[in-house]
Amino acid sequence: MGAQDVLKRKTGVIFGEDVYNLFKYAQEKEFAIPAINVTSSSTVVAALEAARDSKSPIILQISQGGAQFFAGKGVDNTDQKASIAGAVAGAHYIRSIAPSYGIPVILHTDHCAAKLLPWLYGMLTHDEAYHKENGEPLFSSHMVDLSEETKDHNIRDTKKILKDRVAKIDQFLEMEIGITGGEEDGVNNEKVDNNSLYTQPEDIHEIYEALHPISKYFSIAAGFGNVHGVYKPGNVKLRPELLGDHQKYVKEHEKLEDDKPVFLVFHGGSGSKKADFDKAISHGVVKVNLDTDLQFAYLDGIRQYVLDNQHYLMTQIGNPDGEDKPNKKYYDPRVWVRKGEETMRERVKQALVAFNTAGKL
Ligand SMILES: [Zn+2]
Repeated sequence: MGAQDVLKRKTGVIFGEDVYNLFKYAQEKEFAIPAINVTSSSTVVAALEAARDSKSPIILQISQGGAQFFAGKGVDNTDQKASIAGAVAGAHYIRSIAPSYGIPVILHTDHCAAKLLPWLYGMLTHDEAYHKENGEPLFSSHMVDLSEETKDHNIRDTKKILKDRVAKIDQFLEMEIGITGGEEDGVNNEKVDNNSLYTQPEDIHEIYEALHPISKYFSIAAGFGNVHGVYKPGNVKLRPELLGDHQKYVKEHEKLEDDKPVFLVFHGGSGSKKADFDKAISHGVVKVNLDTDLQFAYLDGIRQYVLDNQHYLMTQIGNPDGEDKPNKKYYDPRVWVRKGEETMRERVKQALVAFNTAGKL
């Protein structure tokens, strides 16, 4: 018995009931699926290869900035046009190629703050058109992140997006309450005071009460001291035990049987310790976001390649083996970009082991 047994669609991009069943299975077996930020076909390949080799499901997510990069940095992004087009292009690419890797893939988009909502609405328009034709949304899920607004505003507007659009197309919605510290993709929470980094159980219950009657397809990124990026230890303290309090509170107040009624998401996974992941996962975290560590891992292979081969990379012809020797084999992007894919792939594999996901298919 493995994760694929609970899925109707075993390989490629999954949606709706399959995503729900996969998350429930993850809670039951105590693993979390890494969510890998992808910005190009090359980073998609690195992530898919790692998941295939590790017999794991994977989440590929595109941020607003990553989406713009998918479109090309030279494309005008007025009204989020490039970020919408890039996300849609990335989604179609991932949908086409994912079945070749023989694993289930959740296709997701990352943080969408209030000022970026035109990006989300643009993608949802594509989702709705895709749903009309194919009976499923283009993306498995999106994240809306109104955590910078007041709590009431956050819950009210998230609920409206779920009700009016997301729930109607069998799509998942991830939201954030409390704040993930640090800096990522232009959102800077480095100066936020420490108390707002810890979400309270009452807040999680309030969200559950607002969203669950509309759709059970939602997850919550709750702050428990986590930060985006990698920082010197000691600045903030991770308290993953708080996540257990959330589950208990919702279970008791809703009189549920389920010990883990809420799908929780761990943001800012880079630089965290195995013991913190284990505890968070035991409390129902089903998704861990990993970006910063993978950016560094992708560079690693390329940096090493350039350092090792610098005398073959300075001119098209002429290297230590002879002044008429061609260097084409060395500067072909397929050679050095591949080195980045390989080191990123190995780092994703480490995450799959750390989150107990490896071998779960
Ligand atoms: Zn995040």
